[in-house]
Amino acid sequence: MAVVKANAYGHGDLVISNYLNQIGIFSFAVATMEEGIRLRKSGVKGKILILGYTPAPHAKEIARYDLTQTIVDFTHAKELAKTGISLKVQIKIDTGMHRLGISPDQKEDIVSLFFQPSFSICGMYTHLCAADSLLPEDVAFSKKQIASFQRLTKELENEGISLPSLHIQSSYGILNYPGLSCDFARIGILLYGCHSQIDTTLLQPDVIPVLSLYSRIAMIREVEEGESVGYGRTYYADKKRKLAIVPIGYADGYPRSLSNRGYVLIHGKKANIVGRICMDQMIVDISSIESVRPGDRVTLIGRDGSSIIRAEELATLCGTITNEFLSRLGSRISRVFFHDGF
Ligand SMILES: *Cc1c(COP(=O)(O)O)cnc(C)c1O
Repeated sequence: MAVVKANAYGHGDLVISNYLNQIGIFSFAVATMEEGIRLRKSGVKGKILILGYTPAPHAKEIARYDLTQTIVDFTHAKELAKTGISLKVQIKIDTGMHRLGISPDQKEDIVSLFFQPSFSICGMYTHLCAADSLLPEDVAFSKKQIASFQRLTKELENEGISLPSLHIQSSYGILNYPGLSCDFARIGILLYGCHSQIDTTLLQPDVIPVLSLYSRIAMIREVEEGESVGYGRTYYADKKRKLAIVPIGYADGYPRSLSNRGYVLIHGKKANIVGRICMDQMIVDISSIESVRPGDRVTLIGRDGSSIIRAEELATLCGTITNEFLSRLGSRISRVFFHDGF
C-alpha cells in the first residue's frame, strides 16, 4: 500500500499515484478525505484508505469517491453507522502507540462492527510506534504490539469472523521486522527511496532517492572583508568573498534553521550558506569555485558530479527527519518528473 499523504511526502501526489497505477500498484493510503478526493479526481484507480479521522457528516463524500475510511475509535464507528450510508471501512487497533485506534481489550465492540450492516470491513490494522529503533526495549515493545494484534485476530477468527486484510508495518516495520508477513505494508518514506534518518536497519534494500532539489544562480556579487551579509547581519566576510544569490528560501520549505549551517553544491563543489535564509532566497559562498555564472545549477538535494547531498543529511543538520523535510517542500517549487530505465 503506497502511502501518498502530504502530497506524496512533498513529491507530488497526483503524478506519483498515477505512475504507481501504471506499474501495478492499486492500494493507496492518504491522511485525509480531501487528499483521497484529489487522487480520485485525477483518475487514480484502486483502493484509497484514509488513515485519519473524517467527521461522519462527510460520509456521503467518502462513499461517492469510493474511499475507505479508517474507524478511529468506537465513538467514530457509531457516528458513521448512524448516517446509514454504506461505507468501506478499516478498523484501526491501538496496540500501544495511543494515537488512533480501538484497544484490543474492547473485543465486543470490535466484533459488533462486523455485524454493522452499512459497513463493509475491508481491513484491520495497527501501527508500530518504535519500529525504527533496534534498542532491546523498543524491539520488545514492537514485538508486544505485534503479538497483541495477532492475539486479537486469532480471537476474532475463533468467534467465526472471517478476517479482512490485515496490516501492521510501515517502512521501518519492513526494514526491521522483514519476517513479519501481512496482507499489506503501508510504505511511505521508503517508497521515495529515503530513510527517515541516517541509521542502520536489519534489512538494507538498495533504494535510490526519487527526489532531487535544484535551483539556479540568480546573480553573483563580491563583498569586501568586514562586510555583513543578509538580514540581521549574522555573517561577516572574513576576507573578500564571492557570493551567489540562489532563489529558494524558507517559503519553499528549505528550513531557515540551516542559515549559516547548510550548504549546496555548485559545479560539484560545496558552497556554504552564509547569512540568514530568507523567505524566497539564500546566499551562498562560491569563493573557492571556479567560473560560476548566473543561471548555473545549484543542487540542494541530490548528486552533482561526485558529490551528493542526501535528504537524510539535511534533516539531521536541522534536527528533524526526512519525512518532515520532504513533506514541507513548498508548492512554489515546480516538480519535474521523469523515469529512467524502468
Ligand atoms: C504515515 C503513515 C505510514 C507511513 O509511514 P512511513 O514510515 O513513512 O512508511 C504508515 N501508516 C500510518 C498509519 C501512517 O500514518
